[in-house]
Amino acid sequence: MHNLPLYPQRMVRFTVLASGSKGNSTVVTGGRTRILVDAGLSCRELFRRMRLAGEDPETLDAILITHEHSDHVSGLAVTARKLGIPVYFTEGTHRAWMRWLTPRRQMSYAQWVEQCRRQAAERQAEADAAQCEADPDDAELAPEPVVAEAAEPADEPAAPAKEPTWLPAVEYFQAGQPFTIGDLAINPFTIPHDAADPVGFVFGAEGLRMALATDLGYIPPNVKAQLKGVDLLLLESNHDLEMLRDGPYPWSVKQRVLSRVGHLSNDAAGDFLENEYDGQAAYVILGHLSESNNLPELARVTAERALQAHASLLANRLLLAAQHEPLESIYF
Ligand SMILES: [Zn+2]
Ligand SMILES: [Zn+2]
Repeated sequence: MHNLPLYPQRMVRFTVLASGSKGNSTVVTGGRTRILVDAGLSCRELFRRMRLAGEDPETLDAILITHEHSDHVSGLAVTARKLGIPVYFTEGTHRAWMRWLTPRRQMSYAQWVEQCRRQAAERQAEADAAQCEADPDDAELAPEPVVAEAAEPADEPAAPAKEPTWLPAVEYFQAGQPFTIGDLAINPFTIPHDAADPVGFVFGAEGLRMALATDLGYIPPNVKAQLKGVDLLLLESNHDLEMLRDGPYPWSVKQRVLSRVGHLSNDAAGDFLENEYDGQAAYVILGHLSESNNLPELARVTAERALQAHASLLANRLLLAAQHEPLESIYF
């Protein structure tokens, strides 16, 4: 077992907890500030992996979300509530996330109270209606609204626990508008992906810049500009084109992955690393590798070949982020 914390408090650090279509999450630390980028694993698994990687979950200051796909948000609500920390979204992503958690068949708390009132009125029992209003926990009068997560901490406030989209605090940011959380500077940028308002990030602390760019169909000029002069680059290398073409996905899904708002192939990542990337990063991490349509060795070889163009002994250490275990912390 680790004795926490393993690291000095003031340090710039980047810990990929998981990367891939079954869940994505990274801890970024700068100075005294520590944030979780995406929460695509269960709260329990996120905490387990953080401890495994020497990160203390209790010291997280905020959660930052790239986009609303379930491999980036599946543990979000439970984790945010458990830690009582704010969640940063774009407004579009927040709305899409709420829609995802509240399909039509589900009722909000307010709708449930309304239905409760109506049914009471239909029975022409004014007194019952008043009782229902006063005591929303009386489940006899109406069905419980469907809640997405079952096991909530017992000390949670009663009313918000019934609302699957309830979060301790929500903050909005906009792509192209830099902001700060504590000691971390955050620069969100738009990425081409089939979500409501997806973003990548460049994080800045103590003069260092760390970029996170996964879930993008291609690398447009605005993203290329953001990835200049970074000290750490987490870049998607999602699929091998041949494996995807011959692989098990239905045709429509293959088309989606290949599209301009899908995922970046090994070849596309390699093309960027060879021809557009400035070769400045100490670490290049390949991420969001498909388990069905890629092999770590294929992704690695393609990137290695591309990075040969940048003859630097100090830079471009190549690492692969994994789905099922955290990557060892990178620190500066
Ligand atoms: Zn994803
Ligand atoms: Zn996605």
